[in-house]
Amino acid sequence: MAEPGARPRPQPTEWSEGFWQACREGRLAIQRCDACLRLRHYPQPLCPLCRSAAFGWQTVSGRGVVYSYAVCHRAFHPAWAGAVPYVVATIELDEGVRMLADLRGVAPDEVRIGLPVRVCFERLDDAIVLPRFERDG
Ligand code: ZN
Repeated sequence: MAEPGARPRPQPTEWSEGFWQACREGRLAIQRCDACLRLRHYPQPLCPLCRSAAFGWQTVSGRGVVYSYAVCHRAFHPAWAGAVPYVVATIELDEGVRMLADLRGVAPDEVRIGLPVRVCFERLDDAIVLPRFERDG
């Protein structure tokens, strides 16, 4: 049990462990249906297109653009009280998949839709390495 005020942690599941393993290795990997080869994120047990339960992991470029974003001015949890304001963005990867992540090193007044970004990683501990995104170029 985490102590009160401690940062909430991702809880890997049998469907998402491949994602977290790749992050620990410094790679961004997206779940791919073995039947129809469609990429999907977030990790889930069944393909939303063909309902197959067979899947693997595809390492992707880690490059994309800001599809949408929000600037958080109020911390939703005490662990983020010192971080506001910060930017959370939906990233559209070059491979067409969208994912939610923090933007690093991009001030709230600098972020814009279409901003080129690339993945970077933040190590919390031996088990969890978080994907983040930073300006690309
Ligand atoms: Zn499928």
